[in-house]
Amino acid sequence: AAKAGRDGSWARFVPALDAPAADQARLAAGLRDGLGRGDFRVLYQPIVELPSRRITGVEALVRWHDPERGVIPPDQFIPVAERSGLIVPLGQWVLREACRDASAWPGVYVCVNVSPRQLDDPDFVADVAVALADSGLPADRLVLEVTETAVFNGGPAVDALNLLREMGVRIALDDFGTGQSSLGLLLTCPVDVLKVDKSFVDGVTEPGERAVIVQFLSQVASGLNLDTVAEGVETPEQAERLHELGYRKAQGYLFSKPVPASTLFLDRVLSYR
Ligand code: C2E
Ligand code: MG
Ligand code: MG
Ligand code: MG
Repeated sequence: AAKAGRDGSWARFVPALDAPAADQARLAAGLRDGLGRGDFRVLYQPIVELPSRRITGVEALVRWHDPERGVIPPDQFIPVAERSGLIVPLGQWVLREACRDASAWPGVYVCVNVSPRQLDDPDFVADVAVALADSGLPADRLVLEVTETAVFNGGPAVDALNLLREMGVRIALDDFGTGQSSLGLLLTCPVDVLKVDKSFVDGVTEPGERAVIVQFLSQVASGLNLDTVAEGVETPEQAERLHELGYRKAQGYLFSKPVPASTLFLDRVLSYR
C-alpha cells in the first residue's frame, strides 16, 4: 500500500477540489465500493478534563482503509463524499458504530461529526433516534458536531438540531472561529458546546491576537453557559494556559492521537504531568 501523508503522496489517487469531474467520479465510485466492502474504521480521540486529564468524552473520526492505497485521511475523501451524497450512508454508519462503541464506556460521551448534507437530510433526526435506540446509548452521551457554516442560514438544519436537543442530544459548534463566525449564531442556533479551533489554540501561549480571542471565547462561553473544548492541544504549556483561561476540556496530540476503540483506555498516559 502507498504511504499515508499530506505531502502530496495521494495526489496520484485523490483528486483536488478543482480536479476533472472524471477523477471525482472515480473517487466517489471507490467510496461507494469501500462502503459496501466495509473498508471504513472509526477511531476515537479522547477529550480530557483540565487539569486532571481524565477522559470525559471522545470524538469519533472516520478512516478509509483502501485495500490498495492504505489509510486515507478524511480531509481527502469527506469533501467528495459530501458532493456525491455518499456522506449520508457513510455518516449514518459512523453514527451507529460510534453509538454502539460508546455504549460500552459508562460516563463517557461520544462526539460525532455531522456534515451539512446530513443535517439537510429529512431522515436525519429519525436516523439518530434509531442509532440511540439500537445501541442503548443514552441521548445525553451523544454530542453532534456541526460547523458554523452548516447552520449559518438557519432553516431546516436548525429545526433538526432543535428536535435533537429535545431528545437530549447535545450540539457542539466545531472549529469555532474559522467559519462564518457570528456571535448572533450563539443566540439563534441551539448549541451546548464550543470547540475552539486549533488555529487559535496554537497561539495561546504567546501574547497576541490569537491568545486574546481564545480568552474572549472562554468568557463568552461561560457567560452563555456553554461548555468549551480547546482543540489541537500539543504542549503542556498550552494545556496549562488554557486551564488558566477557564477551559475545562481539551483535546489534542498532547493527550492522545485518535486510536481504535480496542486501545482507547489502555496505556493512555493521561495523568497530570
Ligand atoms: P475535526 O472534526 O475538527 O477533527 C479534529 C481533527 O484534528 C482530526 O483530524 C484530529 O485527528 C486532528 N487533531 C486532533 N488533535 C490534534 C493535534 O494536537 N494536532 C493536530 N495537528 N491535529 C489534531 P482528522 O481525523 O484527520 O479529521 C479531519 C476532519 O475530517 C475533522 O475535523 C472533520 O471535519 C472531518 N471528519 C472526520 N471524521 C468525520 C466523520 O465521521 N464525518 C464527517 N462529516 N466529517 C468527519
Ligand atoms: Mg469535529
Ligand atoms: Mg474540530
Ligand atoms: Mg477541524
